[in-house]
Amino acid sequence: MEAAVAYAEAKGWTWRKMGHWGRLFCAHADRDGCRVGVNGTPRVPFHHAEQIRRAVDRCPHDRESNDEDL
Ligand SMILES: [Zn+2]
Repeated sequence: MEAAVAYAEAKGWTWRKMGHWGRLFCAHADRDGCRVGVNGTPRVPFHHAEQIRRAVDRCPHDRESNDEDL
């Protein structure tokens, strides 16, 4: 699970934790940006991590730097 989040972060995604859940925002973290909800519990099914990776790979806003938004 953390590997999937780390993978997303390496691609410029931003991780935000919200209780037991987290949310990943792509580099284009505006209205049009991609986001994906992440279940933060330790026992996350593998396919969920797979889902995250897929969302990251599918993001059309690849490596757009938007660091000011942090
Ligand atoms: Zn995106």
